Amino acid sequence: MNYSAEQRARLQAMGMGPLWMLRERDGTPAPSASAEVRSVKNIDTLDWDVLEQTVAACAACGLCKSRTQTVFGVGDRKADWLLIGEAPGQEEDTRGKPFVGQAGKLLDNMLKAVGLARGNNVYIANVLKCRPPNNRNPEPSEVAQCAPYLQRQVKLLQPKLIVVMGRFAAQTLLNSDASIASLRGKVHHYRAHPEDAAIPVIVTYHPAYLLRTPTDKAKSWADLCLAQATFQQQQ
Ligand code: URA
Repeated sequence: MNYSAEQRARLQAMGMGPLWMLRERDGTPAPSASAEVRSVKNIDTLDWDVLEQTVAACAACGLCKSRTQTVFGVGDRKADWLLIGEAPGQEEDTRGKPFVGQAGKLLDNMLKAVGLARGNNVYIANVLKCRPPNNRNPEPSEVAQCAPYLQRQVKLLQPKLIVVMGRFAAQTLLNSDASIASLRGKVHHYRAHPEDAAIPVIVTYHPAYLLRTPTDKAKSWADLCLAQATFQQQQ
């Protein structure tokens, strides 16, 4: 993406530069990023629009070479619910929005089942903002490069509840290498920064996995019920 002169001036005025290190979360060091980590200085000061423009221009990892466009996130920027997936697929890469393919249709139905809809008190984002070629798994270095963008989205949104879908989202947000099976069924907590209030996190299966394994839809329904109960407890 090309920046206009005004956007360039705004980004420069914010002191954005080539090098910085990943922040810690929950007091635990973030996944180690190589000394090559290139990201945005002062990301913690970026508002939604500048963050989106910054993501669109990101060239911090090799995925920028194969993407059609970045997929920033979609929905209500004041939402109480944040849903996090893994990475854009082919259709998302083409359309620039998360979960617009088959998995997205299932996700919309799952949301409907608990009285929610995308864009209405729900924001949807992915761990990676660019499509890995041939939908391969994200590399740890790609996750490390991209994680600060998601971290800033969480900070700007301040959701009351986060639902992480699939292993990569769960492990990234919770800074854990545990399996989905062992992470499901509990209320976890996330803090973008140690001084922040803890946000409840529910782990569930990725909708693409549920399309392949429909017998696990009942477990996913139980996860959504736990999410809803956890959300209601805070009201
Ligand atoms: N799978 C994801 O994890 N995210 C998308 O946006 C689409 C499919």
